Amino acid sequence: MDEQATDILAQLARLRADDAPTHGGRVLSYVYDSGLAELDELARAAAASVQSVNGLDPTAFPSVARMEADVIDFAVGLTHGHRRDTPVAGLVTSGGTESCLLAAKSARDRWHARGGEGTPVIVAPVTVHAAFHKAAHYFGLELDLIPVDDGGVVAVGDIVTRLTPQTALVVVSAPCYPFAVLDPISAIAAAAAERGIACHVDACIGGWVLPFWEDGENPLPPWDFRVDGVSSISLDAHKYGYAPKGASVLLFADPDAKRAAAFATTQWPGYPVVNPTMLGSRSAMSLAAAWAVIAYLDRNGFGELTARCRQATRVLQDCVAGIDGLRVVGRPVGPLFAVTADSAVPEDHRVDPHIWADRVRELGWVLQPQPGLGQTSGVVLPRTTHLTVTPVTADDLDDLTAALRSAADDVRGTPPVDLTELLSAIPELAVDDVLDTADAQRILGTLGLDSGSGPGSALPDQLAPVMALLDVIPPRRAEALLTELLARLNER
Ligand SMILES: *Cc1c(COP(=O)(O)O)cnc(C)c1O
Repeated sequence: MDEQATDILAQLARLRADDAPTHGGRVLSYVYDSGLAELDELARAAAASVQSVNGLDPTAFPSVARMEADVIDFAVGLTHGHRRDTPVAGLVTSGGTESCLLAAKSARDRWHARGGEGTPVIVAPVTVHAAFHKAAHYFGLELDLIPVDDGGVVAVGDIVTRLTPQTALVVVSAPCYPFAVLDPISAIAAAAAERGIACHVDACIGGWVLPFWEDGENPLPPWDFRVDGVSSISLDAHKYGYAPKGASVLLFADPDAKRAAAFATTQWPGYPVVNPTMLGSRSAMSLAAAWAVIAYLDRNGFGELTARCRQATRVLQDCVAGIDGLRVVGRPVGPLFAVTADSAVPEDHRVDPHIWADRVRELGWVLQPQPGLGQTSGVVLPRTTHLTVTPVTADDLDDLTAALRSAADDVRGTPPVDLTELLSAIPELAVDDVLDTADAQRILGTLGLDSGSGPGSALPDQLAPVMALLDVIPPRRAEALLTELLARLNER
């Protein structure tokens, strides 16, 4: 490597110095660290070996189709797809969002092909991943969100009564991201099948870990292709598949449904376009990395890593259950869970989950705050803090549990941040509408959230006030302000 290249890499290393640590288990969301250095090395080498390949055309680069076939076959095995009479067919996508988008696109097009007219509808519990909000928004579907109880559980009957001839897709999660609830998949899939409606199981986060989660004592209800009526499943290799970002799998029980996810056109003067997924030209790097990681770990490796996650999850849930003023939300399944204030204890014993997360962060661990949510049923889902547990979490459990406990001791009794009076001080905040850039910047400035544009402009250390802001501002205004905040980050 010449001097200039060395210099450039040194610059990159300096940029990376400000990033949250991707290894070591200090960040309990976003990153999935197996703790196996050799696995990272392997993924890096595999990705580098296909650096110049264009996944757009597997006829020119047959290695792409072969690696995809292997990754899909492994995922079919994880989800008991080999048991189906018709072979399960799959796609490798760039991530969970793309898998969810394509599941919705396929269902929409099949609904239209069956004679559906007007606006097709996706029916799903309110806990369904936001990727389905995005799918509805991008693809012109309506999203009918069904309220859940305060443990995140949806009543089967509440879903079933919403199924109409307009319904193109029902989505259930295995488990859902916010609270790790395993939806009542069998009953909902059966009701959907009876009505000829597609049923997608979003196992983006659970798909690579639930197959190894059971320990004999606690059998899980079936959530995959063992369940009649399940028509598609998404599972992200870049989560508990321990692959670098950029790899997810979308499986279809019916090969026609996979074809309906594709886009093809010969009606332009260029090469015939056939895109089974959303991108055109695409990197094969994350595919090759995922392929190599899967081959290396195989079922045994995944089983061992899952056992570490399970052990750590249990310790952490017990720890939270033992902290006065906090509780685990509902009955989580898998290596993730949410924590909220325990409203059963007097107010001066309660621990606000966001203020707690900020304090835990000061102690060196990054948890993820989640907003509360009012539902049409009147049941308000509480503000929570999310923990995603990975195998490395098991390495440092004493330190982490000590931090969780002492952070709670430090902030117990501190009332939640209440910004309702801010609304009267800044009336523009209360308008539920979009904003132009100039107005959005001005409002952020008033809130002290415009720390100057451009790279390096710091987001606030304390997230509790920001989350409290989102609690009181109407959604469209909040979304506009967040969009502005993010947009400014790479503008000079
Ligand atoms: C992560 C996740 C997604 C979205 O996946 P990305 O890879 O972040 O795009 C969808 N559904 C569930 C349940 C998830 O956990």
